[in-house]
Amino acid sequence: MILRMSSLFLRTLREDPADAEVPSHKLLVRAGYIRRTAPGIYTWLPLGLKVLRNVEQIVRDEMDAIGAQELVFPALLPREPYEATGRWTEYGPNLFRLKDRKGADMLLGPTHEEMFTLVVKDLYSSYKDLPLSIYQIQNKYRDEARPRAGVLRGREFVMKDSYSFDVDADGLQASYELHRKAYINIFDRLGFDYVIVKAMSGAMGGSASEEFLAIAENGEDTFVRSPGGYAANVEAVVVPQAPAVDASAVPATEVVDTPDTPTIDTLVDALNAKHQRTDGREWTAADTLKNVIVMLVHPDGTREPLAIGVPGDRAIDEKRLGAQVDPAEVVAFEDADFEKNPALAKGYIGPGVLGSENASGIRYLLDPRIAEGSAWVTGADKTGYHVINLVHGRDFTADGTIQAAEVRDGDPAPDGSGPLSSARGIEMGHIFQLGKKYAEALDLKVLDQNGKLVTVTMGSYGVGVTRAVAAIAEGNHDELGLVWPREISPADVHLVATGKDSEVFEKAASIAAELESRGLSVLYDDREKVSPGVKFKDAELIGVPTIAVVGKGLADGTIEVKDRRTGNRTDVPVAEIVDHLVAVVRS
Ligand code: ATP
Ligand code: MG
Repeated sequence: MILRMSSLFLRTLREDPADAEVPSHKLLVRAGYIRRTAPGIYTWLPLGLKVLRNVEQIVRDEMDAIGAQELVFPALLPREPYEATGRWTEYGPNLFRLKDRKGADMLLGPTHEEMFTLVVKDLYSSYKDLPLSIYQIQNKYRDEARPRAGVLRGREFVMKDSYSFDVDADGLQASYELHRKAYINIFDRLGFDYVIVKAMSGAMGGSASEEFLAIAENGEDTFVRSPGGYAANVEAVVVPQAPAVDASAVPATEVVDTPDTPTIDTLVDALNAKHQRTDGREWTAADTLKNVIVMLVHPDGTREPLAIGVPGDRAIDEKRLGAQVDPAEVVAFEDADFEKNPALAKGYIGPGVLGSENASGIRYLLDPRIAEGSAWVTGADKTGYHVINLVHGRDFTADGTIQAAEVRDGDPAPDGSGPLSSARGIEMGHIFQLGKKYAEALDLKVLDQNGKLVTVTMGSYGVGVTRAVAAIAEGNHDELGLVWPREISPADVHLVATGKDSEVFEKAASIAAELESRGLSVLYDDREKVSPGVKFKDAELIGVPTIAVVGKGLADGTIEVKDRRTGNRTDVPVAEIVDHLVAVVRS
């Protein structure tokens, strides 16, 4: 295939688009791969579409290689199946809902568990039909709160989603392992530097779940790793419950006056000035129990306050909290909410009024670091007062625990494999043992070997295809432009003809034709009256990994071949150029 720049539907831009913050977004727009249509919604131009198709093809190859079969569902779907699983409501404002002319509710599919479950129910009825893995590569729609970074987080995006169907847990495990291997192959071929981390199962239900994160400074996800091999999305870190400690020597609780101490720092200073500890050491933030109140907004719109107790030296991590309460959203507990709850003394809230059994009636959950028997300083539920020596289990209880406190570098890994360190990544793929949730909700059963009806067990597996294009660009560029990995590049060779000499253009055209006949794809810059400087800049911006320049050297019988990644240049004799380029591309 030869793409001629003289007629290619392409305009490169010298300036960064005003709305772009991350390099991949800037470069994909500047190099003429994508154009914004609306927030989070993009048009794929010819070069972009080539890259997108290349990514799709790698994903397709690897899915086919594990025996998964491709099909495609509509994106426009009826409400009923999503009603049956609860997701019509659970998806909240993220779901694009619409009505048809008869007033029937429809949606644009955010992911297709329901439809896959139903099609298998429609066609299969016996254990002999299973295992089955089916997939599609298709547009998904989510009305994301914060579409960002071009196609990295879009509102319309391409996902490969596959689903496995098995009669039992062992079968599911085997299907999951097959997908895991396919994903490793996919992300290796896409050229990612990635990690596989434990993930939250979230609202989907189910158990084992892992994410493939491309390591990237601009990533929205944070993950932690230990030297001993623990790796998890920070949302999925489960801090173990601290073991109980002996409280027999802790004196009785005492209410102390601490005026003007609504923050942990002011409290610690006031305690050290006026209420010194008896054991000789100073009070620190870690001795305090901080009670934070947030408001949960459930998908059906109901609001529920939630109180969280954490050691005063630790903040609440919004993402960890969000993952725990999903599908509810977390919003601030406003002054107006305080007014409706007179039991709460803002800045001095303590366990005395928290919990479903106490005055406020607000559900109260503790960080697992707060051991049974441990003693705390905390709010006395009276403005200007705190209580000291308040012992968990002796003087107060809560409704349960929650994994919402921040995880810090240096914290121990939950499995004892050493200190954690954190980094950022982009979620590229997610594999997930769903179990029976969808099969139960939609009544997908098959006859087992004994003729008994059993509910099918499922897995669900996603790859962000459009996101992958952006993430690859994010990891493969320099100050001049994009630098595509070979398998993803929109062409094998970028052939540039420079100068005014018709001999140059004739030679370049014949090289392009020969390369094409050898099975290579060529982006051929055959534009007349465009300066060599502009052509070189475009070639660097567009990012085809191999650039060949037919120009001045032709007089001496050579053509310059440039490696876009290393910048290395080689003068290759004209007679050898085609073989040389074929060898470079196939190496
Ligand atoms: P995120 O946490 O980034 O919102 P998710 O966990 O909601 O993603 P899944 O439902 O697991 O995403 O979807 C499978 C894959 O689809 C993700 O791993 C990601 O690569 C991709 N994806 C999800 N949302 C988007 C989006 N808004 N734009 C582009 N790709 C997306
Ligand atoms: Mg996910």
